[in-house]
Amino acid sequence: MHIVLLGRPGAGKGTQGERLAKRLGVTHVSTGDVLRGAMAADTPLGRSVRATVEHGELVPDTVMGGLVAEVVAGAHSGILFDGYPRTVAQCETLSSMLGPCGPDLAVDLDVPAATVLDRVRRRRVCSACGVIGPGGMGRAAACAQCGSALARRIDDDPGVLLRRLGAYEREATPVANWFARTARLIRVDGTGVVDAVTARLNATVARWFESERQPALAVSGPKT
Ligand code: ADP
Repeated sequence: MHIVLLGRPGAGKGTQGERLAKRLGVTHVSTGDVLRGAMAADTPLGRSVRATVEHGELVPDTVMGGLVAEVVAGAHSGILFDGYPRTVAQCETLSSMLGPCGPDLAVDLDVPAATVLDRVRRRRVCSACGVIGPGGMGRAAACAQCGSALARRIDDDPGVLLRRLGAYEREATPVANWFARTARLIRVDGTGVVDAVTARLNATVARWFESERQPALAVSGPKT
C-alpha cells in the first residue's frame, strides 16, 4: 500500500503522517526529513540542495526522483509519502516507479494559510533529533526526548516560509487534480488539536478503504 500525504507547510503532515503510517503498518518517508538529514550529514546530496531548501524553493524534480527511487527500492513494506510528490512531474515519476496502479490514495490535509502561518511562526524543533517541541509551540527550551536545545527550523523563518507557501500554492491544485482525476484523493480538515485531527484522518481513510474507492472525492471539511 502506498499513500501520499498532501498539505501546506505546517499542516501537520509530519505528525499525522507518522501516526497514520504506524496505524497502516507502512513506512513513513518525509522527503523534507531526508533532505535535512543529508544536509546535516553534509553528504553530496545535502550540499547540492542546501541553498534551495534554506531558501524555501523546491528541489529539482530530477534530484527528488533519484532520492525517492532509492527509498522505493529499499522499502520492505508499503510507504506513506510525506512531502512527495509536490509537482505533476513528481506525480508521474512516482506513478511510474510504483507500477500501473501508482499510489493507492492521496490525502490532502487541509489547513488554511493563516493557520499554518501562525503554527509555523511558533514552531520550534529539536536541533539534534528534529522532534517538534511540546504541542509544536516551543514553550520549553529543551527537547523532551533528548534534552537538546529547541530552535526554529531555518526554513521556518517568516520570509522563507512565505516562499514555501508560494511554492505550495503554485503546485497544489494541479497535484490535487492529478490524484482527483483517478478518484484517489480524499480531503481531511487538518484544523484543531492533534488528536482530533488524527481521529478525523483515521476515520476518513478507513471509510475510503471500506468504500473501495467508489467516491471520487470524500471530504470531511470545507476546502480552504
Ligand atoms: P514543508 O512541507 O513544511 O514545506 P518539508 O520538510 O516537507 O516541509 O520540506 C522542506 C523543504 O524540502 C521544502 O521547502 C523543499 O525545499 C524541500 N523538499 C521536500 N520535499 C520536496 C519535494 N517533493 N520536491 C521538491 N522539494 C522538496
